[in-house]
Amino acid sequence: TPVIGVLALQGDVREHLIALAAADAVARPVRRPEELAEVDGLVIPGGESTTISKLANLFGMMEPLRERVAAGLPVYGTCAGLIMLADKILDPRSGQETLGGIDMIVRRNAFGRQNESFEARVDVTGVEGGPVEGVFIRAPWVESVGASAEVLAEYDGHIVAVRQGNALATSFHPELTGDHRVHALFVEMVRAVAA
Ligand code: GLN
Repeated sequence: TPVIGVLALQGDVREHLIALAAADAVARPVRRPEELAEVDGLVIPGGESTTISKLANLFGMMEPLRERVAAGLPVYGTCAGLIMLADKILDPRSGQETLGGIDMIVRRNAFGRQNESFEARVDVTGVEGGPVEGVFIRAPWVESVGASAEVLAEYDGHIVAVRQGNALATSFHPELTGDHRVHALFVEMVRAVAA
C-alpha cells in the first residue's frame, strides 16, 4: 500500500487525508524534511498559495520539496497546490515562490471576480464513470501549458486540470466532494512508480 503525504503547512489537509484513505492509500501529514523523505507520493492541498510558499521557506521545506518533485516524486496539487506546481505564476504576490514541476502558467484567483465560489461538472481525462463535481473556491486557471504538459480538463474554455509526468494538478477540490475518483487516479500514479 503506498504511503502518501499531505503537505500540512496550511490548507485543507484533513480532507485530503480522508480522501486518500478512502482511495486505499496510507495517508499522513508532512511538515518536515524527515517526513517528506518517507512518503511515496505527496498532495499539496488547497488553501492560500502565498502562505504555503512562505511557510515552506520558514520550515526549510522549499528545497527538499523542489528536489523530490524534480526527482519524480508523484505529486498532486489542488487549487493553491496547483499554483505551487506551476513553473510560472502570471500575477505572483511579492515573495511568492513555487516548486514548479509542471510547464504551465497559472492565473491566481482567475474565476474569483465573477464568482468567488461555485460548483460545476467537469469531465477529467483518465477518470471513468462520468464528470466529477468540481468545487471552485477563488480558483486559479491555467493560462497556457508547454508541450510536455497534458490538459486533462477544461471548464468554460479554461484549463482546470493538467498532468505532466508524475505531477497532477486541478483548479478544483475533489477532496471536498466525497467522490474519490481523482484521488484514486493519483493513488494509481503513485503505485505505478512505487511498484
Ligand atoms: N486563491 C488561492 C491562492 O491563490 C487558492 C484558493 C484555494 O486553494 N481554494 O492561493
